[in-house]
Amino acid sequence: MTNKNQKMASAIITDANAFLVALLLLSLSHIPFSSSTIQQDFVMCLVDNSDASFPMDSSFFTRDLNASSYKMALETSAQNLRYLMPSNPKPEFIFEPLYETHVQAAVACAKKLQLHLRLRSGGHDYEGLSYVSEMETAFVIVDLSKLRHINVDLESNTAWVHAGASIGEDPRESKVHGFPAGLCTSLGIGGHIIGGAYGSMMRKFGLGADNVLDARIVDADGKILNRAAMGEDVFWAIRGGGGGSFGVILAWKIKLVPVPETVTVFTVTKTLEQDGTRILYKWQQVADKLDEDLFIRAIIQPASKTPKSKERTISVSYQASFLVTLIG
Ligand SMILES: Cc1cc2nc3c(=O)[nH]c(=O)nc-3n(C[C@H](O)[C@H](O)[C@H](O)COP(=O)(O)OP(=O)(O)OC[C@H]3O[C@@H](n4cnc5c(N)ncnc54)[C@H](O)[C@@H]3O)c2cc1C
Repeated sequence: MTNKNQKMASAIITDANAFLVALLLLSLSHIPFSSSTIQQDFVMCLVDNSDASFPMDSSFFTRDLNASSYKMALETSAQNLRYLMPSNPKPEFIFEPLYETHVQAAVACAKKLQLHLRLRSGGHDYEGLSYVSEMETAFVIVDLSKLRHINVDLESNTAWVHAGASIGEDPRESKVHGFPAGLCTSLGIGGHIIGGAYGSMMRKFGLGADNVLDARIVDADGKILNRAAMGEDVFWAIRGGGGGSFGVILAWKIKLVPVPETVTVFTVTKTLEQDGTRILYKWQQVADKLDEDLFIRAIIQPASKTPKSKERTISVSYQASFLVTLIG
């Protein structure tokens, strides 16, 4: 081990978690730090600024040191493959915090080392804002996917949800409580609510952002703020104002809404040849007047005229969810 490695190891040995310390020592001994001074400085700074240890081999993913796991960590959640082209800038490394204190330290260290931070919860940003940076300076990704604890309180109909949880996660406490979020189950709740979060329950309950009661964020100085500490203006801004602008969202306190144990869903598809244009026109006239328990969205896309035909047409699929149990 180099002197620098030994200094880091001894700093971390103060932590009581012997298993993590052992893992860290093991992985530190394999790191050729000369090839990754940015990560080396960042790790040193994290150790100095955080009281919780982290296993190096599963918390850091670096291009030079573990290329295949770096590639997997970078690409797995990306939805817009255009931003993964080799010509796009890539992060120096990806850090996956395990505790809130790691996030605080990451913010403080990025500031100190003048590294640009990209924040990622579910990684579903269509514009790649959570994993690409056009800035001239080096950037790193802080990926919150391991901060995904959900704490449900059925007495108050609320839950604290860490940013890395996906909206499809089912804490199993209840089958009659829901949250009005989006339709894709792998969206990260961290980035999703920052953008508003519309979904199939919005007619009855509004946006996900309308159902947030409190939040915990890390500000630019590395401090954790709740709603009272951040103030109502910032609390308003983080619910729809866009990602990464006002701090790192650690967790949202959400209001749970009542849902039936079984909901009714259906999809009906009509092509141009099946009177599709007139039905779509009619849907536009009635969609906002339907019962608020009923949500219908219309998906318009190219299609074959018949299942085996090569002739093309346009189809409209009406995808619905009805917050009523029709079949018990
Ligand atoms: C397949 C698909 C389906 C979708 N369906 C819906 C839908 O039904 N309804 C809807 O409203 N939207 C929908 N969206 C859009 C989606 O809600 C947004 O792209 C959302 O920002 C994704 O959040 P994320 O955490 O998964 O993404 P990320 O890429 O991780 O983050 C998105 C943005 O938020 C920032 N960010 C992420 N985490 C944090 C954090 N903890 N603190 C601060 N900033 C952070 C990122 O830097 C980035 O700018 C869909 C997107 C996709 C790809």
